[in-house]
Amino acid sequence: MTPDITAHAKRRLNIIPIEEWPIYKQRPLLIAGPCSAESEEQVMLTAAGLAATGRVDLFRAGIWKPRTRPDKFEGVGTVGLKWLRQAREVYGLPVSVEVATEKHVYEALKHSVDAVWIGARTSVNPFALNEIASALKGSDVMVFIKNPVNPDLELWIGAVERISKAGITRLAAIHRGFSTWEKCVFRNQPRWQIPVELRQRIPDLPMICDPSHMGGDRSFIGDLSQKAMDLNYDGLMIESHNDPASALSDRKQQVTPSELTQILDSLVLRSPTSDDPEFLEPIEDLRSQIDVYDNLLLDILESRMQVAETIGRYKKEHNITILQSTRWKEVKDNAVDKGVRKGLTPEFIQIFLEAIHQESITHQMKVMKED
Ligand code: PEP
Ligand code: MN
Repeated sequence: MTPDITAHAKRRLNIIPIEEWPIYKQRPLLIAGPCSAESEEQVMLTAAGLAATGRVDLFRAGIWKPRTRPDKFEGVGTVGLKWLRQAREVYGLPVSVEVATEKHVYEALKHSVDAVWIGARTSVNPFALNEIASALKGSDVMVFIKNPVNPDLELWIGAVERISKAGITRLAAIHRGFSTWEKCVFRNQPRWQIPVELRQRIPDLPMICDPSHMGGDRSFIGDLSQKAMDLNYDGLMIESHNDPASALSDRKQQVTPSELTQILDSLVLRSPTSDDPEFLEPIEDLRSQIDVYDNLLLDILESRMQVAETIGRYKKEHNITILQSTRWKEVKDNAVDKGVRKGLTPEFIQIFLEAIHQESITHQMKVMKED
């Protein structure tokens, strides 16, 4: 169920605006590098390629890799931190690694990394977050927090709060999408409304998109990055490897530094607002049309719920259950067919109808309980 955002106060955390971070040059802030550090040579070659693009603000490479199944490459471990340090010295790129435990944080700080990120499998776990937060106390590294694997906004906010309470002020969220059981074209379902809502709840929190782990395939990176830019994200984290075909993890989704440049060159960057009257006047008119339609939708929903309540009373009198599965399936199938002909996506119609249906059931239950 969609949470009522008006029920939550906006959180003001002590977060430095991303434009004031020393690594920030322009939107999008770009974090790039291989999924995993694999060898000194691979780290140095990739860093060389990325530094040459002149576009990368922060180099990334995982050295402790959270793999879904055992017996896969689980990262090179602490030795990778030396290669990252060397990449920074030679190419002047600030560097970052993923941390999942207290020990990872101590090791990363000992090797003076510039930033750490907390992965999706870790941000679900408040125990791990507490450990990481306490190990980060007193440090001024940048911290990026990926969304938890499950679509739980409160958990994501909880992770941000725990790290913020440790005194970290250069803090940002990374949206990488959510696991699903159902088949989905992307490796992880974006569910854009969740990060959008996170920004409403914590307006100061910078938002980065990770189209690599979201899409799971390099062919999706351009479109997902564009979408993130159109939603006014501050930055992107894109996996880039000097030779993706030989990568030891996430081979399909990594791009070469030159492919990365092409992706960046095709992004269209629009500004979030304008004070130009030539833009403002028509847009205000269009927005008032949207308001009219939204009000109409609410009126229609009110009428629909009134009918549902009448049906509820009728079912009660005849001692009939609220839910008739065959009827509900028919309603849904018809609406999907019709909606698709009107240019709506089947996913949207499904979600929309399910929400309406749920609300109808709530109204009918209320009626059933009446004396
Ligand atoms: C990663 O960025 O290397 C990673 C493991 O990502 P995620 O936590 O988003 O799966
Ligand atoms: Mn990866």
